[in-house]
Amino acid sequence: MLNTLVRLTPGMPLLLVVLGVLGVVLIVPAAHAQPRYEILLKGGHVIDPRNNVDAVMDVAVAGGKIAAVRPDINPAEAGTVADVSGLYVTPGLIDNHVHLFATTGMRDAWAGDNSVLPDEFSFRSGVTTMVDVGSSGWRNFEDFRNRVIDRARTRVFAMLNIVGLGMMSDPIEQNVHDMDANATADMATKHRDVVVGIKSAHYMGPEWISVDRALEAGTLAKIPIMVDFGYFRVERPYYKLVTERLRPGDISTHMFRGPVPYVGEDGKLLDYLKQARARGVLFDVGHGGGSFVFRNAAAAIQQGFYPDTISTDLHTGSMNGAMMDMLTTMSKILVLGVPLKEVVRQSTMNPAVAIQHPELGHLGVGAEADVAVLRVAQGSFRYMDGSRGTFEGDRRLQCEMTLKGGRIVWDWNARSGVDYRTLSKDYGIRPVDKIILPPR
Ligand SMILES: [Zn+2]
Repeated sequence: MLNTLVRLTPGMPLLLVVLGVLGVVLIVPAAHAQPRYEILLKGGHVIDPRNNVDAVMDVAVAGGKIAAVRPDINPAEAGTVADVSGLYVTPGLIDNHVHLFATTGMRDAWAGDNSVLPDEFSFRSGVTTMVDVGSSGWRNFEDFRNRVIDRARTRVFAMLNIVGLGMMSDPIEQNVHDMDANATADMATKHRDVVVGIKSAHYMGPEWISVDRALEAGTLAKIPIMVDFGYFRVERPYYKLVTERLRPGDISTHMFRGPVPYVGEDGKLLDYLKQARARGVLFDVGHGGGSFVFRNAAAAIQQGFYPDTISTDLHTGSMNGAMMDMLTTMSKILVLGVPLKEVVRQSTMNPAVAIQHPELGHLGVGAEADVAVLRVAQGSFRYMDGSRGTFEGDRRLQCEMTLKGGRIVWDWNARSGVDYRTLSKDYGIRPVDKIILPPR
């Protein structure tokens, strides 16, 4: 005789009613078939600059995509409902300056020992997309792709270093004989699905060769270049980089580094910065271990010169130093006076456009469901820059939840779970497991 009680779940396509007494099995179509949405984020304040949304809305996810963004979506239509009221819901964050070529072999370099693996640091900070900038060059990019990019759950893009061995060169990135624009452009074109730019970095010499070869490669491959200006020298002043050398769409990273001139003797923002921005040159934070001073960031932001993109320059040094993570870096920009909506724009839509992937960084219906759920904690928080300078602010961003491609990949407050006392008596035991009690 059948007397199994079939537990009903919202996802069950058919309702099975087993009438044990009569031994009759009735199969009746369920009132609710497959829920329309897999996940519903309910009651959060959505900030989606690309789609001009800045209001309390529900966000529904189905098939890995954003399925609906509007007020009052019925929770009965979703498999998992997460109450995110009081929190901000933003597109998954895009960190466009990190170092991920984590292999042994190179001591104290941004590739090798000082790189980190993406999934270890991305989701817990709301980051769903990372751009490795220049850890590898054309000679070792395919090894990097195989070891890291293709294995990560984080979406990873890369910019190729103009030096063939990338940041594994010795001395790091100074070998002008290994700056081959053609070979770099060819490799970039071959891997155009993940290569989004060319990087020039840490150059010490008095000439422009590192920047110029990167520009040549970028022009050949039709992608932007990002420049870490390296050593600031009289022979090649920084203002010439951004007002003459870089093309529209090229990126000057480490924008708040100490030697970048921001204000004249009158305390006013220098004109060359506005000229560079008018040309379409992009300014990126790239905080790093020592590439951010509050002195410059405060001067720029107070006079309305905001970053185009906020990024970390994540590596083992910066993450355990003053930089820490994407949200700490965003918090610094926030407490210096940039409105939250702009901070979100600079960490989602703007970096997506900068790397020529405008399909990312927003929450439009049909977009990949990469989502960050953030708390703006209120209180008194001290922040430090790379040179021991501190600044006190009243807010700090924290990550409560992250979705990547419609899957919950970080859930700090267990919003997607249920009280264990409501689960079945033997939950958490796989069919293959046998429970053997010790003899009494
Ligand atoms: Zn870097």
